Amino acid sequence: MIEIKKTPIKRVSFRGIDSLVKLDYLTHPHFSGNKARKLYFYLKNNFPKIKKLISYGSIQSNAMYSLSYLAKIKGWSFEYYVSKIPSYLKKNPHGNYLEALKNGMRVIEAPYPSTFGEDELFIKEGGAETYAKEGIKLLAKEIKEQIKDEDISIFLPSGTGTTALYLQQYLDMKVYTTAVVGTKEYLMEQFLALNPDKKRLPTIIDTKKRYYFGHLYREFLQIWIELKQNTDIEFDLLYDPKGWLALIENIKEIDSKILYIHQGGLLGNVSMKKRYEREFYEDFR
Ligand SMILES: *Cc1c(COP(=O)(O)O)cnc(C)c1O
Repeated sequence: MIEIKKTPIKRVSFRGIDSLVKLDYLTHPHFSGNKARKLYFYLKNNFPKIKKLISYGSIQSNAMYSLSYLAKIKGWSFEYYVSKIPSYLKKNPHGNYLEALKNGMRVIEAPYPSTFGEDELFIKEGGAETYAKEGIKLLAKEIKEQIKDEDISIFLPSGTGTTALYLQQYLDMKVYTTAVVGTKEYLMEQFLALNPDKKRLPTIIDTKKRYYFGHLYREFLQIWIELKQNTDIEFDLLYDPKGWLALIENIKEIDSKILYIHQGGLLGNVSMKKRYEREFYEDFR
């Protein structure tokens, strides 16, 4: 049985903001951050009938890598559906894609199936389903134990919003988030789909500038480098730059200290760094 470790909290000061960072990427080398939390249910339970895991999504995703490792340790085969593998990646596999291939992932360039056999387990993209609750509840419990008497709000950047939503369900502290994948309207729809009674929803903050998911921005790279220099923490390059920018723009409205959740994604940084190096090579020294 895989053990998901309790993760430490580090005090940092960045651009005049004193905050705490929960280093949740330290959960497990192969199940990092919120993917470990979301897949906890599958890690913990046995599925005697299952022989094959099926999922779909983007070709460099953190979730894909964690699923490939889940299949490997469970002894399942793993089929992953994508729209297309970019030719440069086919020629030169790296990052999450390479590591998932090593774990035995079979990539299929086609729409994902809609019906499944008895021995097949289908896990939807992003883990935006109720099974994710269980691991996120544990994360909430850990936070409650670690933060006892400080006036703290939580902040974490969102993709599907699953992690932020369930954290707010289990915590009395206020949970702030920002939409990284779509607009804040999309994120609100996601919250309501997971929690139709509209109670205890996270508070969404945003940047003035509109950023598109997976696109490269010089200010993203700059804040990521500055964070590394000032806090000695390597953050994720896909979600965290928008996260920190939104936090800084809105810090005046948040009248308590922040606990920032570092949700992993460092293996995905391998491919993001390559892309940034090509685009803004002069910023890398
Ligand atoms: C997957 C992921 C997210 C998004 O999590 P959601 O629960 O979908 O909002 C954020 N940060 C990192 C590093 C991730 O890997």
